[in-house]
Amino acid sequence: MIDYHVHTSLCNHADGAMDDYIRNAIAAGLSEICFLDHLTLHERGRRLSMTPDMVPLYYQTVRTLGQYYKKDIHVKAGLEVDFDPQNARAVQIIIDPLDFDVIGGSVHFLDQINMVSRKDTEARENEAIDKLCDLYIDRLYQMIETMDLDIVCHLDVFKKFGRRPNGAFETKFDAVLSAIRARNLTVELNTSGLSHKGEEFYPSPGLIKKCHERNIPMTLGSDAHQPDQVGRHFDQALDLLTATGFRHVSAFTRRRRYDLPLTTKTPGIQNIHHGGAP
Ligand SMILES: [Zn+2]
Ligand SMILES: [Zn+2]
Repeated sequence: MIDYHVHTSLCNHADGAMDDYIRNAIAAGLSEICFLDHLTLHERGRRLSMTPDMVPLYYQTVRTLGQYYKKDIHVKAGLEVDFDPQNARAVQIIIDPLDFDVIGGSVHFLDQINMVSRKDTEARENEAIDKLCDLYIDRLYQMIETMDLDIVCHLDVFKKFGRRPNGAFETKFDAVLSAIRARNLTVELNTSGLSHKGEEFYPSPGLIKKCHERNIPMTLGSDAHQPDQVGRHFDQALDLLTATGFRHVSAFTRRRRYDLPLTTKTPGIQNIHHGGAP
C-alpha cells in the first residue's frame, strides 16, 4: 500500500526526520511514500510552510532519500499547495522548474480564517458553519477549475473541529465532483480526520461513494505530521474503499497517474504506534 501525504519539519508544524517517516513506511510494509509538504504563500499561512527558496532543496532532499532507500520503497516528491488565487502565478513559477511526481491542492484559508488551525477557533466559531461550508465549497470549486494539480486533498476538511452544516451537505459537492471528473483529477482519502474532532475520514463515506459512482480515482494519505502517524488508520480506510467498490488506488510518477491494486491486508501496519492528533 501507499501513503501519499506526509509532511516534514520544513513546514514548522511537523516533527521528525524525513528518514524516520520513510523507515516507518518501510516497517509498515508500504511500497510507496510521498512527501507532500506545504507550500503556502498566503500571508496568514506563510509561517506554516516552507519558504519558496526552500522548495528546490526540499525537492533534492526527497530525490536523494529516494535513491538511498530505493531497494526498500519508492519515495515520491510532491507538494501540498494551498490554493490562493492571489498567488497562483507565483506558485507556478516556483514549481515549474522542478520535476515533482505529484501536486496536491488544498483549501485551508477562507480569506483571513484558517479552517484547519486550532488558533483560529474563535474566528471560525463567530461564523455560521453553513456559511463557512458554502464559502469553502466555492473556493474548492474555483481551485479545481483553475489550478494545475493532480490530487484534491482533504475534500471536506471544514468538519475537522466537529461542527457540521445542517442537512445533507454532501449534495453541495455535486458540482465539485463533476468538475473533478471533468478534469480527470484524483481525490485523496485522508485518514487524519479519524484522529480529529470530526472523527471521520476526509472525505466522508457518503462522498467516497459518490466518487466511486462517478469513476473518480482515489489515493490514500495519512497527512502525517510526525513519523509515527505514517499509515495511520489504513486498515479501516482500505476496508471502506473495498466495501465501497474500489479495486485500485492511484499513485503518480512525474505527474502521471497509475493504478495499484487495492489490498486490504498490509503486513506490519498494525504494529505501528499511532500518535495523537497533530
Ligand atoms: Zn492540508
Ligand atoms: Zn497535509
